[in-house]
Amino acid sequence: MCEIAYQQCIHADCGATFDIGQPLFGCPKCGNLLDVGYHWDKVAVPKSLDAFNRRWTTPGRSVEARADFSGVWRFRELLPFAKVDEIATIGEGRTILQQADQIAKQIGMKSGRLFLQYEGFNPTGSFKDNGMTAAFTIARKLDRTRVACASTGNTSAAMSVYAAHSGDSGKPMQAIVFVGEGKIAFGKLAQALDYGALTLQIAGDFDACMKRAVECAEKLDVYLMNSLNPFRLEGQKTIMFRILEGLDWQVPDWIIVPGGNLGNSSAFGKAFEELKTLGLIPRIPRIAIINAAGANTLDHAWNQKKMRWNEGKFDSKGICEYFDELDASNNKAKTIASAIEIGRPVNLAKGLRTLDVMNGVVRTVTDEEILAFKAMIGRYGYGCEPASAASLAGLHQLRNEGMIGPDDKVACVLTGHSLKDPDATVNYHMKGSGQQVGSPPNQPVQIADDFEAIKTAIN
Ligand SMILES: *Cc1c(COP(=O)(O)O)cnc(C)c1O
Ligand SMILES: [Zn+2]
Repeated sequence: MCEIAYQQCIHADCGATFDIGQPLFGCPKCGNLLDVGYHWDKVAVPKSLDAFNRRWTTPGRSVEARADFSGVWRFRELLPFAKVDEIATIGEGRTILQQADQIAKQIGMKSGRLFLQYEGFNPTGSFKDNGMTAAFTIARKLDRTRVACASTGNTSAAMSVYAAHSGDSGKPMQAIVFVGEGKIAFGKLAQALDYGALTLQIAGDFDACMKRAVECAEKLDVYLMNSLNPFRLEGQKTIMFRILEGLDWQVPDWIIVPGGNLGNSSAFGKAFEELKTLGLIPRIPRIAIINAAGANTLDHAWNQKKMRWNEGKFDSKGICEYFDELDASNNKAKTIASAIEIGRPVNLAKGLRTLDVMNGVVRTVTDEEILAFKAMIGRYGYGCEPASAASLAGLHQLRNEGMIGPDDKVACVLTGHSLKDPDATVNYHMKGSGQQVGSPPNQPVQIADDFEAIKTAIN
Protein backbone atom coordinates (compact mmCIF):
# COMPACT_ATOMS: atom_id res chain seq x y z
CA MET A 1 0.00 0.00 0.00
CA CYS A 2 1.18 3.50 0.77
CA GLU A 3 4.87 3.26 1.59
CA ILE A 4 5.01 6.42 3.67
CA ALA A 5 3.15 4.98 6.68
CA TYR A 6 3.64 1.77 8.63
CA GLN A 7 2.52 0.28 11.94
CA GLN A 8 5.05 -0.32 14.66
CA CYS A 9 5.06 -2.03 18.05
CA ILE A 10 5.76 0.55 20.77
CA HIS A 11 7.85 -1.72 23.01
CA ALA A 12 11.58 -1.05 22.55
CA ASP A 13 12.43 -4.73 22.96
CA CYS A 14 10.26 -5.58 19.96
CA GLY A 15 9.69 -2.65 17.61
CA ALA A 16 8.29 -4.95 14.91
CA THR A 17 6.80 -3.12 11.93
CA PHE A 18 3.78 -3.99 9.83
CA ASP A 19 2.15 -2.74 6.67
CA ILE A 20 -0.77 -0.37 7.21
CA GLY A 21 -2.88 -2.77 5.14
CA GLN A 22 -2.99 -5.24 8.02
CA PRO A 23 -5.91 -4.69 10.39
CA LEU A 24 -4.11 -4.99 13.74
CA PHE A 25 -5.01 -3.91 17.26
CA GLY A 26 -1.89 -5.06 19.00
CA CYS A 27 1.51 -6.42 18.05
CA PRO A 28 1.13 -9.99 16.72
CA LYS A 29 4.61 -10.75 18.08
CA CYS A 30 4.45 -9.47 21.66
CA GLY A 31 0.91 -8.21 22.24
CA ASN A 32 1.85 -4.59 22.98
CA LEU A 33 0.21 -1.52 21.45
CA LEU A 34 0.92 -0.30 17.93
CA ASP A 35 1.72 3.14 16.61
CA VAL A 36 1.36 4.54 13.14
CA GLY A 37 4.83 5.63 12.04
CA TYR A 38 5.92 7.62 9.00
CA HIS A 39 8.93 7.95 6.78
CA TRP A 40 8.95 11.70 7.20
CA ASP A 41 11.63 12.18 4.57
CA LYS A 42 9.03 11.14 1.99
CA VAL A 43 6.38 13.60 3.16
CA ALA A 44 6.02 17.19 1.95
CA VAL A 45 5.62 18.65 5.45
CA PRO A 46 5.40 22.47 5.41
CA LYS A 47 8.49 24.24 6.75
CA SER A 48 6.44 26.19 9.24
CA LEU A 49 3.09 25.54 10.92
CA ASP A 50 1.49 28.78 9.78
CA ALA A 51 1.33 27.33 6.27
CA PHE A 52 -1.77 25.48 7.53
CA ASN A 53 -3.62 28.76 8.21
CA ARG A 54 -4.32 29.29 4.53
CA ARG A 55 -6.53 26.20 4.33
CA TRP A 56 -9.26 27.78 6.47
CA THR A 57 -10.61 29.59 3.46
CA THR A 58 -10.17 27.17 0.55
CA PRO A 59 -13.15 27.72 -1.75
CA GLY A 60 -14.90 25.24 -4.04
CA ARG A 61 -16.06 21.62 -4.06
CA SER A 62 -12.82 19.79 -4.81
CA VAL A 63 -11.58 16.89 -2.66
CA GLU A 64 -8.87 19.25 -1.41
CA ALA A 65 -11.47 21.80 -0.37
CA ARG A 66 -13.43 19.10 1.47
CA ALA A 67 -10.30 17.99 3.30
CA ASP A 68 -9.37 21.58 4.11
CA PHE A 69 -12.82 22.15 5.66
CA SER A 70 -12.06 19.40 8.20
CA GLY A 71 -10.10 20.48 11.27
CA VAL A 72 -8.43 17.07 11.15
CA TRP A 73 -7.45 16.84 7.47
CA ARG A 74 -6.42 20.46 7.19
CA PHE A 75 -3.28 19.04 8.84
CA ARG A 76 -3.07 16.02 6.54
CA GLU A 77 0.71 16.20 6.02
CA LEU A 78 1.04 15.44 9.75
CA LEU A 79 -1.02 12.22 9.49
CA PRO A 80 -0.05 11.14 6.00
CA PHE A 81 -1.45 7.62 5.71
CA ALA A 82 -4.14 8.28 3.08
CA LYS A 83 -4.52 10.11 -0.18
CA VAL A 84 -6.70 13.16 -0.17
CA ASP A 85 -9.44 11.45 -2.21
CA GLU A 86 -9.61 8.56 0.27
CA ILE A 87 -10.51 10.70 3.27
CA ALA A 88 -13.76 9.87 5.12
CA THR A 89 -14.84 13.23 6.48
CA ILE A 90 -18.12 14.73 7.65
CA GLY A 91 -16.59 18.09 8.52
CA GLU A 92 -15.25 17.25 11.98
CA GLY A 93 -12.76 19.18 14.05
CA ARG A 94 -13.94 22.69 13.24
CA THR A 95 -13.38 23.61 16.85
CA ILE A 96 -11.52 26.63 18.07
CA LEU A 97 -9.67 27.64 21.17
CA GLN A 98 -11.69 29.88 23.48
CA GLN A 99 -10.02 32.43 25.73
CA ALA A 100 -11.73 32.06 29.13
CA ASP A 101 -10.80 35.16 31.12
CA GLN A 102 -13.76 35.03 33.48
CA ILE A 103 -12.99 31.47 34.53
CA ALA A 104 -9.29 32.37 34.78
CA LYS A 105 -10.21 35.07 37.29
CA GLN A 106 -12.27 32.62 39.35
CA ILE A 107 -9.34 30.30 39.81
CA GLY A 108 -6.67 32.93 40.33
CA MET A 109 -5.12 33.11 36.91
CA LYS A 110 -4.24 36.18 34.90
CA SER A 111 -6.28 37.22 31.96
CA GLY A 112 -5.18 35.82 28.61
CA ARG A 113 -3.66 32.74 30.22
CA LEU A 114 -6.53 30.21 30.30
CA PHE A 115 -7.98 28.67 27.14
CA LEU A 116 -10.64 26.02 26.57
CA GLN A 117 -10.43 23.77 23.54
CA TYR A 118 -14.12 23.04 23.10
CA GLU A 119 -14.38 19.69 21.31
CA GLY A 120 -18.12 19.53 22.04
CA PHE A 121 -18.57 21.49 18.80
CA ASN A 122 -17.83 18.38 16.73
CA PRO A 123 -20.61 16.82 14.58
CA THR A 124 -21.55 14.26 17.24
CA GLY A 125 -20.67 16.53 20.15
CA SER A 126 -17.40 15.03 21.34
CA PHE A 127 -13.72 14.89 20.39
CA LYS A 128 -14.19 11.26 19.28
CA ASP A 129 -15.07 12.45 15.76
CA ASN A 130 -11.44 13.52 15.29
CA GLY A 131 -10.40 9.92 15.72
CA MET A 132 -13.24 8.29 13.82
CA THR A 133 -12.61 10.20 10.60
CA ALA A 134 -9.08 8.78 10.61
CA ALA A 135 -10.13 5.24 11.54
CA PHE A 136 -12.89 5.18 8.91
CA THR A 137 -10.49 6.44 6.29
CA ILE A 138 -8.35 3.36 6.86
CA ALA A 139 -11.38 1.04 7.28
CA ARG A 140 -12.61 2.09 3.86
CA LYS A 141 -9.17 1.64 2.35
CA LEU A 142 -9.24 -1.91 3.73
CA ASP A 143 -12.79 -2.53 2.45
CA ARG A 144 -14.16 -3.33 5.88
CA THR A 145 -17.93 -3.63 6.13
CA ARG A 146 -18.49 -4.17 9.87
CA VAL A 147 -17.11 -2.01 12.65
CA ALA A 148 -17.39 -2.42 16.42
CA CYS A 149 -16.48 -0.61 19.60
CA ALA A 150 -16.91 -0.79 23.33
CA SER A 151 -18.11 2.53 24.56
CA THR A 152 -19.10 4.68 27.49
CA GLY A 153 -21.20 6.46 24.88
CA ASN A 154 -19.30 8.96 22.79
CA THR A 155 -17.24 6.46 20.84
CA SER A 156 -20.44 4.67 19.86
CA ALA A 157 -22.11 7.91 18.76
CA ALA A 158 -19.13 8.89 16.63
CA MET A 159 -18.60 5.42 15.17
CA SER A 160 -22.28 5.04 14.29
CA VAL A 161 -22.48 8.29 12.38
CA TYR A 162 -19.37 7.57 10.31
CA ALA A 163 -20.60 4.03 9.62
CA ALA A 164 -23.87 5.43 8.38
CA HIS A 165 -21.92 7.66 5.97
CA SER A 166 -19.54 4.92 4.80
CA GLY A 167 -19.97 1.74 2.81
CA ASP A 168 -20.54 1.08 -0.86
CA SER A 169 -23.31 2.25 -3.16
CA GLY A 170 -25.52 3.53 -0.40
CA LYS A 171 -25.30 0.45 1.81
CA PRO A 172 -23.97 1.68 5.13
CA MET A 173 -21.37 -0.20 7.09
CA GLN A 174 -22.77 -2.16 9.99
CA ALA A 175 -21.95 -0.55 13.34
CA ILE A 176 -21.86 -2.80 16.40
CA VAL A 177 -21.74 -1.09 19.76
CA PHE A 178 -21.07 -2.63 23.18
CA VAL A 179 -22.30 -0.57 26.11
CA GLY A 180 -22.47 -1.43 29.79
CA GLU A 181 -25.98 -1.73 31.11
CA GLY A 182 -27.06 1.51 32.78
CA LYS A 183 -23.62 3.00 32.11
CA ILE A 184 -24.43 5.32 29.25
CA ALA A 185 -25.83 8.84 29.29
CA PHE A 186 -29.05 9.14 27.29
CA GLY A 187 -27.79 11.78 24.88
CA LYS A 188 -25.18 9.31 23.67
CA LEU A 189 -27.39 6.22 23.61
CA ALA A 190 -29.91 8.22 21.59
CA GLN A 191 -27.28 8.90 18.93
CA ALA A 192 -26.18 5.26 18.56
CA LEU A 193 -29.78 4.12 18.22
CA ASP A 194 -30.72 6.87 15.81
CA TYR A 195 -27.72 6.26 13.53
CA GLY A 196 -28.74 2.62 13.25
CA ALA A 197 -26.07 0.84 15.28
CA LEU A 198 -26.67 -2.68 16.54
CA THR A 199 -26.47 -1.75 20.20
CA LEU A 200 -25.56 -4.55 22.59
CA GLN A 201 -26.12 -3.60 26.21
CA ILE A 202 -24.22 -6.26 28.05
CA ALA A 203 -24.52 -6.98 31.75
CA GLY A 204 -21.17 -5.48 32.72
CA ASP A 205 -19.14 -2.29 32.76
CA PHE A 206 -16.91 -0.64 30.14
CA ASP A 207 -13.97 -2.88 30.87
CA ALA A 208 -16.13 -5.95 30.26
CA CYS A 209 -17.43 -4.44 27.01
CA MET A 210 -13.88 -3.75 25.89
CA LYS A 211 -12.91 -7.40 26.26
CA ARG A 212 -15.93 -8.48 24.18
CA ALA A 213 -15.26 -5.97 21.43
CA VAL A 214 -11.67 -7.17 21.13
CA GLU A 215 -12.86 -10.78 21.10
CA CYS A 216 -15.24 -10.04 18.23
CA ALA A 217 -12.49 -8.26 16.30
CA GLU A 218 -10.25 -11.29 16.73
CA LYS A 219 -12.80 -13.98 15.94
CA LEU A 220 -15.31 -12.37 13.60
CA ASP A 221 -14.75 -10.24 10.54
CA VAL A 222 -15.23 -7.05 12.50
CA TYR A 223 -12.97 -3.98 12.49
CA LEU A 224 -12.27 -2.52 15.92
CA MET A 225 -12.83 1.22 16.37
CA ASN A 226 -11.65 1.68 19.93
CA SER A 227 -8.51 3.68 20.59
CA LEU A 228 -6.52 0.42 20.43
CA ASN A 229 -6.85 1.18 16.74
CA PRO A 230 -3.73 3.31 16.22
CA PHE A 231 -5.26 5.26 13.34
CA ARG A 232 -7.84 6.81 15.61
CA LEU A 233 -5.11 8.44 17.62
CA GLU A 234 -3.65 9.98 14.46
CA GLY A 235 -6.86 11.97 14.05
CA GLN A 236 -6.88 13.00 17.69
CA LYS A 237 -3.39 14.50 17.36
CA THR A 238 -5.00 17.39 15.50
CA ILE A 239 -6.68 18.65 18.69
CA MET A 240 -3.20 19.77 19.70
CA PHE A 241 -2.51 21.31 16.31
CA ARG A 242 -5.65 23.39 16.69
CA ILE A 243 -4.62 24.53 20.16
CA LEU A 244 -1.29 25.70 18.76
CA GLU A 245 -3.09 27.36 15.88
CA GLY A 246 -5.40 29.15 18.35
CA LEU A 247 -2.30 30.51 20.08
CA ASP A 248 -0.76 31.72 16.83
CA TRP A 249 1.55 28.72 16.92
CA GLN A 250 2.99 29.65 20.31
CA VAL A 251 3.49 26.62 22.57
CA PRO A 252 1.45 26.84 25.82
CA ASP A 253 2.89 25.84 29.21
CA TRP A 254 0.26 23.24 30.03
CA ILE A 255 -2.29 21.00 28.35
CA ILE A 256 -4.92 19.58 30.72
CA VAL A 257 -7.07 16.62 29.73
CA PRO A 258 -9.35 14.11 31.44
CA GLY A 259 -7.98 10.57 31.35
CA GLY A 260 -10.20 7.58 30.61
CA ASN A 261 -8.87 5.00 28.20
CA LEU A 262 -5.96 7.43 27.62
CA GLY A 263 -6.43 7.64 23.86
CA ASN A 264 -6.34 11.42 23.88
CA SER A 265 -3.41 11.59 26.26
CA SER A 266 -1.53 9.14 24.04
CA ALA A 267 -2.31 11.07 20.88
CA PHE A 268 -1.27 14.39 22.40
CA GLY A 269 2.17 13.16 23.43
CA LYS A 270 2.72 11.68 19.99
CA ALA A 271 1.62 14.93 18.33
CA PHE A 272 4.13 17.05 20.23
CA GLU A 273 6.93 14.55 19.92
CA GLU A 274 6.49 14.52 16.14
CA LEU A 275 6.24 18.31 15.85
CA LYS A 276 9.45 18.65 17.85
CA THR A 277 11.22 16.01 15.74
CA LEU A 278 10.10 17.78 12.58
CA GLY A 279 11.50 21.05 13.93
CA LEU A 280 8.07 22.71 13.82
CA ILE A 281 7.99 23.69 17.53
CA PRO A 282 10.87 24.75 19.77
CA ARG A 283 9.65 22.99 22.92
CA ILE A 284 6.96 20.64 24.24
CA PRO A 285 4.33 21.79 26.77
CA ARG A 286 3.66 19.90 29.99
CA ILE A 287 0.53 17.79 30.40
CA ALA A 288 -1.74 17.16 33.35
CA ILE A 289 -3.93 14.08 33.00
CA ILE A 290 -6.91 14.13 35.35
CA ASN A 291 -8.65 11.02 36.64
CA ALA A 292 -11.98 10.82 38.46
CA ALA A 293 -11.72 9.51 42.02
CA GLY A 294 -13.69 6.35 41.23
CA ALA A 295 -11.55 5.55 38.17
CA ASN A 296 -7.99 6.56 38.96
CA THR A 297 -5.92 3.64 37.75
CA LEU A 298 -3.46 5.93 35.95
CA ASP A 299 -2.96 8.08 39.05
CA HIS A 300 -2.23 4.95 41.03
CA ALA A 301 0.06 3.47 38.39
CA TRP A 302 2.03 6.70 37.96
CA ASN A 303 2.12 8.20 41.46
CA GLN A 304 2.07 5.12 43.68
CA LYS A 305 3.33 2.21 41.62
CA LYS A 306 5.79 4.51 39.83
CA MET A 307 5.24 2.81 36.49
CA ARG A 308 7.32 4.54 33.83
CA TRP A 309 7.83 4.54 30.07
CA ASN A 310 11.49 3.73 30.62
CA GLU A 311 12.59 4.63 27.09
CA GLY A 312 10.15 2.17 25.59
CA LYS A 313 11.18 -0.68 27.88
CA PHE A 314 8.09 -0.29 30.03
CA ASP A 315 7.00 -3.19 32.20
CA SER A 316 4.19 -4.67 30.12
CA LYS A 317 3.99 -7.73 32.33
CA GLY A 318 3.64 -5.44 35.35
CA ILE A 319 0.72 -3.66 33.68
CA CYS A 320 -1.05 -6.99 32.99
CA GLU A 321 -0.47 -8.14 36.55
CA TYR A 322 -1.76 -4.85 37.91
CA PHE A 323 -4.96 -5.19 35.88
CA ASP A 324 -5.30 -8.80 37.03
CA GLU A 325 -4.97 -7.62 40.63
CA LEU A 326 -7.75 -5.08 40.05
CA ASP A 327 -9.91 -7.86 38.60
CA ALA A 328 -9.11 -10.19 41.49
CA SER A 329 -10.09 -7.59 44.08
CA ASN A 330 -13.25 -6.87 42.07
CA ASN A 331 -12.19 -3.24 41.70
CA LYS A 332 -14.80 -1.54 39.48
CA ALA A 333 -14.72 2.00 38.13
CA LYS A 334 -17.45 4.27 39.50
CA THR A 335 -17.92 7.97 38.75
CA ILE A 336 -20.60 10.41 37.62
CA ALA A 337 -18.22 11.26 34.77
CA SER A 338 -19.31 8.22 32.76
CA ALA A 339 -16.97 8.98 29.82
CA ILE A 340 -13.96 8.33 32.05
CA GLU A 341 -15.50 5.53 34.11
CA ILE A 342 -12.74 3.16 33.05
CA GLY A 343 -10.65 1.05 35.38
CA ARG A 344 -8.30 -0.70 32.90
CA PRO A 345 -7.14 1.98 30.45
CA VAL A 346 -6.08 0.09 27.32
CA ASN A 347 -3.59 2.78 26.32
CA LEU A 348 -1.81 2.84 29.67
CA ALA A 349 1.62 2.21 28.16
CA LYS A 350 1.19 5.01 25.64
CA GLY A 351 -0.07 7.20 28.47
CA LEU A 352 3.21 6.58 30.27
CA ARG A 353 5.06 7.60 27.12
CA THR A 354 3.12 10.87 26.97
CA LEU A 355 3.85 11.60 30.63
CA ASP A 356 7.51 11.09 29.82
CA VAL A 357 7.57 13.12 26.61
CA MET A 358 5.49 15.96 28.11
CA ASN A 359 7.00 15.93 31.60
CA GLY A 360 3.49 15.25 32.84
CA VAL A 361 1.62 14.98 36.11
CA VAL A 362 -1.45 12.96 37.06
CA ARG A 363 -4.10 14.07 39.53
CA THR A 364 -7.45 12.81 40.79
CA VAL A 365 -10.56 14.91 41.38
CA THR A 366 -13.82 13.95 43.12
CA ASP A 367 -17.24 13.76 41.51
CA GLU A 368 -18.30 16.77 43.63
CA GLU A 369 -15.43 18.83 42.20
CA ILE A 370 -16.22 17.66 38.69
CA LEU A 371 -19.84 18.80 38.97
CA ALA A 372 -19.00 22.10 40.64
CA PHE A 373 -16.42 23.02 37.99
CA LYS A 374 -18.71 21.79 35.28
CA ALA A 375 -21.20 24.35 36.58
CA MET A 376 -18.48 27.02 36.36
CA ILE A 377 -17.76 26.10 32.75
CA GLY A 378 -21.48 26.42 32.05
CA ARG A 379 -21.86 29.63 34.02
CA TYR A 380 -19.34 31.43 31.85
CA GLY A 381 -20.88 30.36 28.61
CA TYR A 382 -19.23 27.16 27.45
CA GLY A 383 -20.82 24.08 29.01
CA CYS A 384 -19.64 20.51 28.83
CA GLU A 385 -20.41 17.01 30.04
CA PRO A 386 -19.12 15.86 33.45
CA ALA A 387 -15.95 14.07 32.27
CA SER A 388 -14.74 17.19 30.44
CA ALA A 389 -14.91 19.26 33.60
CA ALA A 390 -12.29 17.07 35.24
CA SER A 391 -9.81 19.23 33.33
CA LEU A 392 -10.85 22.47 35.06
CA ALA A 393 -11.23 20.73 38.44
CA GLY A 394 -7.70 19.41 37.93
CA LEU A 395 -6.41 22.86 37.03
CA HIS A 396 -7.96 24.24 40.22
CA GLN A 397 -6.13 21.59 42.22
CA LEU A 398 -2.82 22.29 40.48
CA ARG A 399 -3.24 26.03 41.05
CA ASN A 400 -3.77 25.38 44.78
CA GLU A 401 -0.66 23.24 44.88
CA GLY A 402 1.30 25.95 43.11
CA MET A 403 2.26 23.49 40.38
CA ILE A 404 0.60 25.81 37.87
CA GLY A 405 1.20 29.54 38.32
CA PRO A 406 -1.17 32.47 37.61
CA ASP A 407 0.94 33.42 34.61
CA ASP A 408 1.19 30.01 33.00
CA LYS A 409 -0.51 29.61 29.66
CA VAL A 410 -2.94 26.72 30.00
CA ALA A 411 -5.25 24.94 27.55
CA CYS A 412 -7.94 22.66 28.99
CA VAL A 413 -9.56 20.22 26.60
CA LEU A 414 -13.35 20.19 26.94
CA THR A 415 -13.99 16.76 25.54
CA GLY A 416 -17.77 16.64 25.15
CA HIS A 417 -20.91 18.76 24.80
CA SER A 418 -23.15 19.59 27.73
CA LEU A 419 -26.26 18.10 26.07
CA LYS A 420 -24.70 14.63 26.13
CA ASP A 421 -25.72 14.18 29.74
CA PRO A 422 -28.46 16.65 30.72
CA ASP A 423 -29.46 14.50 33.70
CA ALA A 424 -26.16 15.20 35.45
CA THR A 425 -26.59 18.94 34.86
CA VAL A 426 -30.21 19.18 35.96
CA ASN A 427 -29.63 17.03 39.05
CA TYR A 428 -26.78 19.31 40.11
CA HIS A 429 -28.78 22.49 39.70
CA MET A 430 -31.86 21.03 41.41
CA LYS A 431 -30.02 20.25 44.59
CA GLY A 432 -29.38 23.04 47.13
CA SER A 433 -26.06 24.73 47.68
CA GLY A 434 -23.34 23.30 49.88
CA GLN A 435 -20.25 22.78 47.80
CA GLN A 436 -17.20 24.93 48.48
CA VAL A 437 -15.66 25.27 45.04
CA GLY A 438 -16.75 25.83 41.46
CA SER A 439 -20.10 27.48 40.73
CA PRO A 440 -23.17 26.97 42.92
CA PRO A 441 -26.35 25.28 41.71
CA ASN A 442 -28.80 27.49 39.85
CA GLN A 443 -32.10 26.16 41.11
CA PRO A 444 -35.27 26.94 39.19
CA VAL A 445 -37.69 29.06 41.21
CA GLN A 446 -41.21 27.80 41.82
CA ILE A 447 -43.52 30.75 41.59
CA ALA A 448 -47.20 31.62 41.41
CA ASP A 449 -48.67 32.76 38.11
CA ASP A 450 -48.81 36.29 39.48
CA PHE A 451 -47.09 39.51 38.31
CA GLU A 452 -46.31 40.87 41.79
CA ALA A 453 -44.67 37.61 42.81
CA ILE A 454 -42.67 37.54 39.57
CA LYS A 455 -41.61 41.17 40.06
CA THR A 456 -40.32 40.35 43.54
CA ALA A 457 -38.40 37.36 42.21
CA ILE A 458 -36.77 39.43 39.45
CA ASN A 459 -35.74 42.20 41.83
C1 LIG B 1 -13.85 9.32 25.56
C2 LIG B 1 -13.99 10.50 26.43
C3 LIG B 1 -13.06 10.85 27.41
C4 LIG B 1 -11.88 9.98 27.69
O1 LIG B 1 -10.90 10.06 26.72
P1 LIG B 1 -9.76 8.95 26.59
O2 LIG B 1 -9.12 9.26 25.32
O3 LIG B 1 -10.44 7.62 26.60
O4 LIG B 1 -8.89 9.11 27.79
C5 LIG B 1 -13.22 11.99 28.12
N1 LIG B 1 -14.30 12.80 27.92
C6 LIG B 1 -15.22 12.51 27.01
C7 LIG B 1 -16.39 13.42 26.85
C8 LIG B 1 -15.11 11.36 26.23
O5 LIG B 1 -16.05 11.08 25.34
ZN1 LIG C 1 5.81 -6.23 19.59
